[in-house]
Order: sequence, then C-alpha cells, then structure tokens
Amino acid sequence: MSTDPACIFCKIIRGEIPSTKVYEDDDVLAFKDIHPSAPVHLLVVPKRHVSGLSATAPEDQAVLGKMLLVAPQIAREQGSVDGLRTIINDGRVGRQDVFHLHMHVLGGPGPLGRMMAMDE
Ligand code: 5GP
Ligand code: ZN
Repeated sequence: MSTDPACIFCKIIRGEIPSTKVYEDDDVLAFKDIHPSAPVHLLVVPKRHVSGLSATAPEDQAVLGKMLLVAPQIAREQGSVDGLRTIINDGRVGRQDVFHLHMHVLGGPGPLGRMMAMDE
C-alpha cells in the first residue's frame, strides 16, 4: 500500500492525526471535513496515496468506483436523507489544496446552495 510520510491524509489514514471517521474498509476511508461547508461535509479518500484525480491509473478504477458507491451511503447515515453533492477538486485549475485524492461529500438536511463549487 503506497503511503506518503508527509501527506496529511496519509497521516489520518495511519492514525497519526485524529479524525472523525464515518466509514472504513480495506480500500477507502471517509471522515468529517475539519472545516465543514455544509451540514454534512465528509471526505472520502483511497487508502493508497495518489496525489489527485489526474494522477489516477487503470489500477485505481475499482477504488474510484467504491468512492462513489460509498458516498450516498455515508451521506444518508450522517443525516442527508434526500440526496447529496460530490466534488473532486483537482490540480491548480480545480484549486486542490491537499494533494491526496479526495472526494467531498456534501449534504443537508436542507437543499444546498446552487453553487457549482465551494467558493464563497
Ligand atoms: P481541497 O481544497 O484540497 O479539495 O480540500 C481539502 C479539504 O481538506 C478542505 O475542505 C479542508 O477543510 C480539509 N482538511 C484539511 N486538513 C484537514 C485535516 O487535518 N483534517 C480534516 N478532517 N480535514 C482537513
Ligand atoms: Zn497521501
């Protein structure tokens, strides 16, 4: 399993930095975002370090699918019972801040704003 000693999300995966985990299996971890932008704001990450969506390879196909499958399940469990929004920021254009692939899972209870991204 590839891990980056300096990567903040790898540290969360290794348990070196605390997080509020909401889902974990052999391939992915989901935890609450430290600065929530919505009533439900979770991050789903592959346990294998990959810097971002643009850095994924065919071997990541299964884990990418699992990230999407997990999203509605954990959103519902956290109280977003009527839908959700997913966002993957990638690279400079996508204003990615943490360079370990992650999918934002945003939810209600109420409808989110009409934003296309999380910019204020
Ligand atoms: P990005 O802009 O890269 O798509 O999003 C990175 C996200 O990671 C931000 O929403 C930020 O609040 C979250 N984040 C950064 N550091 C930590 C941390 O140490 N713990 C948790 N739970 N979330 C973090
Ligand atoms: Zn990492």
